[in-house]
Amino acid sequence: MPAQDRPDGIGARLAAVRDRIAKAEAAAGRVPGSVRLLAVSKTFPPAAVREAAAAGQTAFGENYVQEAVAKVAALADLALEWHFIGPLQSNKTRAVAERFAWVHSVDRLRIAQRLSDQRPDHLPPLQVCIQVNVSGEATKAGVAPEEAAALARAVAALPRLRLRGLMTLPAPQADPARQREPFARLRRLYEALRAEGLHLDTLSMGMTGDLEAAVAEGATIVRVGTGIFGPRPQKGAGG
Ligand SMILES: *Cc1c(COP(=O)(O)O)cnc(C)c1O
Repeated sequence: MPAQDRPDGIGARLAAVRDRIAKAEAAAGRVPGSVRLLAVSKTFPPAAVREAAAAGQTAFGENYVQEAVAKVAALADLALEWHFIGPLQSNKTRAVAERFAWVHSVDRLRIAQRLSDQRPDHLPPLQVCIQVNVSGEATKAGVAPEEAAALARAVAALPRLRLRGLMTLPAPQADPARQREPFARLRRLYEALRAEGLHLDTLSMGMTGDLEAAVAEGATIVRVGTGIFGPRPQKGAGG
């Protein structure tokens, strides 16, 4: 039987994740299909991405520039949409601007300016989200909530970027009752920015362990790795 049809294979896990999303949409009274699934393929080889693509997945997320560059090249024969979701240093922006459709992890203006300057003319504007650190000290990545509005206005003015919304990566929280709080905070910020006239349509939030909570709070993209590809090897060299 084809790899994507095995009960324990990537295709079966993808179907299970899609089912979780559909149930969460229904539970929240949201329009079916209003939440997009981004398959986070970091640390997994091109063959795993091919298996997911064979099961109908087209949007993939990567965290590490060097790994992503090789993977995008190895999969150039497929029509995939690549999203960069990891920390981004200035010396790596060009590689991302030239290959990705989206960047979810913009958290300072200097990075946004470089991405805009380096986005090739033959490609459409780079779709971006601003990463907001809504859970305080837990993670260093992301702009502080009180600085997000100023950054959003500045990014929205850059010619080769299109600001789509906000992203967050809260500290892991196993208690479902507590998972919604950071997502609710991101959503309130998003609504405040929309109210002041920014044309945002994307809330990138929710992962394998908390996607139901994120969908309940209005996520439009959930980023799922483990639920689709299985456990990742411990992060080590090359990460
Ligand atoms: C790794 C990662 C994910 C996926 O996490 P899982 O728990 O494996 O689903 C989502 N978003 C970001 C930013 C990540 O780094």
